[in-house]
Amino acid sequence: MLVINNNNVSLKNVIYTTAESRPSKTLLNCDIYKIYNVINKNLNIINELSNIDVQTKPIEYYVLQEIITKLKIFNEYKHSFGLSFNNITINETDNDNIIIFSIEKITTFKSVIINVINLFKMIENNNYLIIDYIDLFKSNSIEFVIILSNLFKKIKIYFYKLLKKNILIGIKYIYNKKTINYIKKILLNLKNNYFVKQFNINVNKQLQLNIYDYNNKIFNYYININNKLSIIEIIEEKEFIFNNFLKVNRIIKNIPNCNHLLIKCYLNDCFICTKCYEYFNIFN
Ligand SMILES: [Zn+2]
Repeated sequence: MLVINNNNVSLKNVIYTTAESRPSKTLLNCDIYKIYNVINKNLNIINELSNIDVQTKPIEYYVLQEIITKLKIFNEYKHSFGLSFNNITINETDNDNIIIFSIEKITTFKSVIINVINLFKMIENNNYLIIDYIDLFKSNSIEFVIILSNLFKKIKIYFYKLLKKNILIGIKYIYNKKTINYIKKILLNLKNNYFVKQFNINVNKQLQLNIYDYNNKIFNYYININNKLSIIEIIEEKEFIFNNFLKVNRIIKNIPNCNHLLIKCYLNDCFICTKCYEYFNIFN
């Protein structure tokens, strides 16, 4: 988790470019990033997420439940939250604590800006804002969080494994007309097919180091999963495939509610669970 306190940072002129900027060396370990970049991150079933059933409840439900737990002050209202307004939730738990929540399917710099501008129309002082956020690999994405911190008492960022992206929580909104107008102006320029090169905002050394660690944890999380999947030998693979055959033909019993442990099955170009012998495909 990353915490960025209200900086009341002065807004500078934005530099735009016609091409997207590259990840910054100060924010990530390039060697690990290279490995992370080429591994398959689309595996849909991971042991620790087996409690999640997207068939019965929308993903937003699980996101909100997890975040509420982290926010603590909303804990006692945890089960009374509803999802409405096409995934934007406004929940009035008491007079002060209101959460405004919006998770997008695809997250880009532009979509984040459009999302915040729309949400700022309904947000009021002291409200909480929960949105999804882009990767923290580039300087401009950090600089923009610092700009957003002008509008909150504090900002927290979590990497949410199920969504495979960052969740940004703005704690206690503070109305700031100048910052909102500044963000609106950025959107106008992004609409002309420009990208933000930099906001000219200073990112302090400690925050850079924190982000470096934060990004590293994300890379290692995926690299570890990937390693676990690739160390198995063909002999074992054949045995699992045979067990799958037995299961499909009802010679051995099906295991309900299996807490799947998947390995790569090279022979059939899929993944196979080593406990219940079910096949899984990778979603691209
Ligand atoms: Zn299984």
